[in-house]
Amino acid sequence: MKLSVRKYGDPVLRRKGVLVAEVTPEVRQLIADMFETMEASHGVGLAAQQVGHALQLTVIDIRPIEDRPSTLELKGKAVDPKSIMPLVLLNPVVQPVGEPVAGSEGCLSFPKLYAEIERPESVDVTATNERGETIAFRAGGLLGRCIQHETDHLNGILFIDRMSRNDREELKPDLDDLQAATKAALKKK
Ligand code: ZN
Repeated sequence: MKLSVRKYGDPVLRRKGVLVAEVTPEVRQLIADMFETMEASHGVGLAAQQVGHALQLTVIDIRPIEDRPSTLELKGKAVDPKSIMPLVLLNPVVQPVGEPVAGSEGCLSFPKLYAEIERPESVDVTATNERGETIAFRAGGLLGRCIQHETDHLNGILFIDRMSRNDREELKPDLDDLQAATKAALKKK
């Protein structure tokens, strides 16, 4: 089932996700619904907060974007990043690797807003997958960026928090409009 994507101004986006102790049938259903929602919205990553659940759960599939390379290492060996797509991360712990690099980002909770965000080039990731197994890998490029963007969501952090002051100033009228529209819509419910 496609879920509605929560927009900037919805307080759930600022909530830190709680750990997912077990992959229950409810969690499995939520994962399936999140993939459906992400694909319908043409996104490459979606965090549980963005569909109204403050949980340590995110889904990622970078395959639709072909012009921005990704890297993946399993136990120090380079492998095809597509081999772990679609990717479900429960309770991810990420450790930054390398110097910050700038890259363009958008977010389904901020329609039509884009900015250059600086993030470490790669990340070491440990998480639980949808089968309850522990997975560990190093991801870089687009995938590394996407994982950092999504794990930020799981901690209530949004990409506007990581923008340059200039970009944020420039986008402020749009951000204020979006926040007001979201709050007005929430009030009507
Ligand atoms: Zn986002």
